[in-house]
Amino acid sequence: VSAERFPIERVPPAVAAIAQRLIGAGHEAWYVGGAVRDALYEAATGKAVTRTGDYDIATSAPPPEVRSLFRRTVPIGIEHGTVAVLDEGGGAHEVTTFRKDVRTDGRHAEVEFGVSLEEDLARRDFTINAVAVHPGSGEMRDPFDGRGDLGRGVVRAVGDAATRFREDRLRVLRALRFGAAPGFTIEPETWAAVTASAHELSHLSRERVREEWVKMLLASAPARGIGLWLEAGVLGEIWPELASLDAARVAALDGVQGADPVTLTAAALAAAGAGSETARHAAARLRFSNRDAERIEAVVAALARPLPDPEDEIGVRRWLAANLTHYTDISRALPARFRDRLVAAVIAVRLRGAPLSLEQLAVDGSDLLAAGVKAGPAVGRILRRMLDEVLEDPARNTREYLLTRPYLESAD
Ligand code: ATP
Ligand code: MG
Repeated sequence: VSAERFPIERVPPAVAAIAQRLIGAGHEAWYVGGAVRDALYEAATGKAVTRTGDYDIATSAPPPEVRSLFRRTVPIGIEHGTVAVLDEGGGAHEVTTFRKDVRTDGRHAEVEFGVSLEEDLARRDFTINAVAVHPGSGEMRDPFDGRGDLGRGVVRAVGDAATRFREDRLRVLRALRFGAAPGFTIEPETWAAVTASAHELSHLSRERVREEWVKMLLASAPARGIGLWLEAGVLGEIWPELASLDAARVAALDGVQGADPVTLTAAALAAAGAGSETARHAAARLRFSNRDAERIEAVVAALARPLPDPEDEIGVRRWLAANLTHYTDISRALPARFRDRLVAAVIAVRLRGAPLSLEQLAVDGSDLLAAGVKAGPAVGRILRRMLDEVLEDPARNTREYLLTRPYLESAD
């Protein structure tokens, strides 16, 4: 990036207001982190980056001072100096006090405040993440040539990569996330430290690992992101269930529609031959929410069973009825060449309004009781049998037909 001034007018006003308040109170405040990185990357390459994260603010003000300067704050990581400042709309913005690590064990760090911006930048992980922008002037502090690396698309550790990864193993996964972004590569020494650390990740918190996995899937094409985890030797360490994936099967994951990390995770598990049980355990281990774990399990289960022939209307209806709740996720994870034909067949079924669930039957439980069926499990059993008949031929979904089935009589 040739410009000596950062385009600060692009910083959201709520963030700028926080920085101004810190500076007005006599402290230093600088924009740092992913938002600076992505804005500089856009400026250097003209390529847009999809971003959800906010600007991070680094300040010389100690955490209690940060808390006293703003009406609403949340001490989200106070022991590491991070305070969330809430704006008028309730939006949270992270303000972190300049810090350096005094003790590290690969997953926790003990930090010390009262250091300079330069020291704070030196403890950051990669050169592209160690650029600070002054909120008033747009002046930049870039002691490790992060802008040069951004322009070249290089992920390079600040300082000695092996040392930095020993301090904090999460940096290995962060390197892979940044390195998988389009146009980026990992610098050789940093890469050597990544592969050397691949077997040292077992102590990381599973939530953090899951978060990095998800962020990686959001930041890159699956084949590239997952492919890099594979190449680095990290994939099988985090996901033993995916250990059987090879480059070809990873490449096929680019066929999964949309960038939804849950669907992609399920597709990867299915591609590795995992069953639904294995998939559920894997998702739970990596602390996916119950809802997401359920989605993963459903997609893997559906992909593990035979898929219907799109020409076979009855087969498509039965399959859709069995997979109704998670149909959207499942359809995205279908093998790309097959997906269009099956999705078209499903749309046709839906347009015809064919009943697919018990609720859509022309009769319900109370009708069965009125017809003399005894209350109890027989009611559900008969309704499911009726649905099965209706899936075979939707024209059967009438009270006349269903209430005259012989199996109504014999039920007990
Ligand atoms: P994004 O916001 O896109 O996830 P980010 O780089 O902003 O990416 P954050 O977790 O928000 O990631 O961290 C903000 C900044 O803090 C980083 O840019 C980096 O400078 C520093 N940082 C974050 N995690 C680490 C780490 N494990 N080791 C060293 N520095 C880190
Ligand atoms: Mg960030």
